[in-house]
Amino acid sequence: MKRLFALLGLVLLVLIAVVSVRTLLFGSRQGEFAPAADLGATADPVPSGAAQRLATALTFRTVSLPPPAPPAREEFRALHLWLASTYPLVHQQLEPEPVGELSLLYTWRGVDPTLPPVVLMGHQDVVPVIPGTEDRWTHPPFDGVIADGWIWGRGALDDKATVIAILEAAESLLAEGHRPQRTIYLAFGHDEEVGGANGAQKIAGLLESRRVTDYALVLDEGGAITQGMVPGVDGTTAIIGAAEKGYVSLELIATAQGGHSSTPPKSTAIGILGRAITRLEDNPFPMRIDGATRSMFEFIGPELPLSRRLLMANLWLTAPLVKKGMSSSNGGAASLRTTTAATMFNAGIKDNVLPINARAVVNFRILPGETVDSVTTRVREIVADERIEVGVAFNLGQDPTPMSDVEGPAFKMIGRTLREVLPGEEVLITPYLVTGGTDAKYYASRSRNVFRFLPVFIGGDDMGRVHGTDERVSVESVDLAIRYFRQLVRNTDGL
Ligand SMILES: [Zn+2]
Repeated sequence: MKRLFALLGLVLLVLIAVVSVRTLLFGSRQGEFAPAADLGATADPVPSGAAQRLATALTFRTVSLPPPAPPAREEFRALHLWLASTYPLVHQQLEPEPVGELSLLYTWRGVDPTLPPVVLMGHQDVVPVIPGTEDRWTHPPFDGVIADGWIWGRGALDDKATVIAILEAAESLLAEGHRPQRTIYLAFGHDEEVGGANGAQKIAGLLESRRVTDYALVLDEGGAITQGMVPGVDGTTAIIGAAEKGYVSLELIATAQGGHSSTPPKSTAIGILGRAITRLEDNPFPMRIDGATRSMFEFIGPELPLSRRLLMANLWLTAPLVKKGMSSSNGGAASLRTTTAATMFNAGIKDNVLPINARAVVNFRILPGETVDSVTTRVREIVADERIEVGVAFNLGQDPTPMSDVEGPAFKMIGRTLREVLPGEEVLITPYLVTGGTDAKYYASRSRNVFRFLPVFIGGDDMGRVHGTDERVSVESVDLAIRYFRQLVRNTDGL
């Protein structure tokens, strides 16, 4: 008995020693983004009137509706004319060409055409305002109002702020006579909100057909400077998307006998399908800490107070605890597992008629490491009912992207550039897993330097405003984004 206690004590001591050493060795990564220049708002001011130009861009109703609805051609064309007159140097010197009819590709030729190029991405289209909700907006969604330090309107954050900030940066640098060392493409899709197949996908294909096979950096929307959005972190954190979840909607169709509701079977098609949905909700996909999420823990963990740092440094032991903590928020859970969301359910035509079919659609956002096929297979296993057919709905299936290289120069340059335009600010920099989708996915198989980040401040209820009511961006954020892209273009010379 004594020996047993001694052994247990020894095991405990070894455990404490390992946990302590690992915590001590869990060093900060933030020094990797040390600024090389100090370019605060006074050192490198933005062109005047930029906020007003973004506000004007919001008045074009470049709304994407799901197919088969055609694109809002007239609105896109009007936007293009306005862009050409508003950014004359860009349009004279960067050879804009339409791709997929309404997307725009600009080529800023570098001094050395042999260097791998950079792609700066954004999208021109916006999601619709749900009919009937227009009057809930503080300022009308397409009026381009600036008030109280904010620019209000659909597309303010998603994603015209990106498009305008990039164009403002390019126009002002051209006016200063800047010429980049490597070629920089500006690529603005027109159908990101409906998948990007006619825009970003075609642009990526076009570049490939021109033998562009290696990219120094591809930068799109999909990250921001956040406050209180990373579970367990109180401070300001710049989250830079390093991978993107996949996407599939599965259609479940239950078939049962129809007939008169006065003599029903034990279960109708609705009951059969309802139980299948319940089984799916009761059997969520397993949680995993790896890929971009694990990497986020490595960049943020060392900056946390001791108790949390200890957890992050010892995931081999603490993973179950960390998973439990993270999954208490929906956003945290989404970064650890493939999510299951039943989004549509249709059945029945009359109160006294037994339905022959019931149909549901369940949307899955797929964690890297799983695929459309593996998710479909698991769903069939859980449903396990021969009366229910399971298939891919709307022909939409997208595997998760591979993870980009967060140890390489492109990622470090993104963080360093932010530090350079935000001198004196305490901002943690970290990669993360994008739980939504972006146009950048079309480059993810072509380059390991694909990242998703726009330096705007996001906090409180801002995420609910994206695709929702009262979308807005602060004038301060737009100024920062323009200064950021100016410095980023300069910094691509050193990549
Ligand atoms: Zn977007």
